[in-house]
Amino acid sequence: MSFKIMLLPGDGIGVEVVSSAVKVLKLVAEKCYISFEFNEGLMGGCSYDEYGTPLTDEVLEECRQTDAVLLGAVGGPKWEGLPHESKPEAALLKLRKSLGLFTNIRPAKVYDSLVNSSTLKPEVLKDTDFVVLRELTGGIYFGNPRGYDDNRGWNTMEYSYEEVERIARIGFDIARNRNKLVTSVDKANVLECSQFWRKVVHEVHKDYPDVELRDMYVDNAAMQIVRNPRQFDVLLTSNLFGDILSDIAGVITGSLGMLPSASLGTKHALYEPIHGSAPDIAGKNKANPLGTISSVAMMLDYTFKQPATASLIDKAIEQTLRSGFRTADIYSEGDTLVNTEEMTQLVLEKIEEMNTD
Ligand code: NAD
Repeated sequence: MSFKIMLLPGDGIGVEVVSSAVKVLKLVAEKCYISFEFNEGLMGGCSYDEYGTPLTDEVLEECRQTDAVLLGAVGGPKWEGLPHESKPEAALLKLRKSLGLFTNIRPAKVYDSLVNSSTLKPEVLKDTDFVVLRELTGGIYFGNPRGYDDNRGWNTMEYSYEEVERIARIGFDIARNRNKLVTSVDKANVLECSQFWRKVVHEVHKDYPDVELRDMYVDNAAMQIVRNPRQFDVLLTSNLFGDILSDIAGVITGSLGMLPSASLGTKHALYEPIHGSAPDIAGKNKANPLGTISSVAMMLDYTFKQPATASLIDKAIEQTLRSGFRTADIYSEGDTLVNTEEMTQLVLEKIEEMNTD
């Protein structure tokens, strides 16, 4: 079995964490008899510096030719003043749109050993395990007309039937393999676009009588994630609401550095940690690589259909944390502080020790 992976380390700590994840992929390839073919390209500020654009057509084409893309992070203060289309973050939107990645999946799972590192009380957080399923290529981020002049600014929130239907189906399918509950998030008390979203989600729900559907206004959802996160299983959201809620969901489970994500379309898949390029710690060997390592576990599970290998990686992460090792972002008194390379090495050692028979 051979799978093609396109690596886009990007800017800042993206480079460090992708290097960690590649080490993990190489080790599991050896251990589980899988073969990976790696290709690498520039994206983000580094691509702008080299080619005057944050994403070249050549790199985009290479992404189209691979089974999965692994992205680190893009952006940084150096490129903040650039016009919208040249900004590193514009490359992210272009990549997602071009690959037809309409689904973003972000698990919000609390590791037992990290239950004390959150800002929430352990008793509120314990056993939290849900996914935020965010629509990624529609809604207000892409709607037209958009713009601003001296007197006003405007954007358009718009969804087609097909866009809502396909994300809703994915939500119900995922819930079927989990705890069979979809909470659909909207603002139907104010927005017509949300009233439409709710109507379509309920129509799709008729095909999934075994899954429970609840509706929740986005402001309440933000509150409930912090008040009682255990009540959720699959949180189904539009692009804008998911952008905000997935960050809240992320931060309550510990550190941004811990969290993986998958963006899926019908033909392509992109995996990346949810954090940014963290300019404050870039190049200092301080970044937590576990979000990116978890992202490759998701890649093995969702795209390469290797759930046993994926769970090997998840278990190695869990055991490393249980042994008390922490990067600075998740460190508390009494833990053993390690840097990016040491944390990676510890995970590799745990994988090495595991039995794959
Ligand atoms: P950020 O996620 O880069 O950093 C926020 C804070 O979390 C920082 O203090 C950082 O040190 C810390 N942090 C993040 N990841 C960490 C990790 N793996 N280990 C340890 N600590 C970690 O968000 P920001 O500061 O708002 O953005 C910085 C740049 O990244 C901006 O240019 C932004 O546009 C870009 N960005 C890119 C992506 C992406 O590529 N997908 C996502 C978010 C932000």
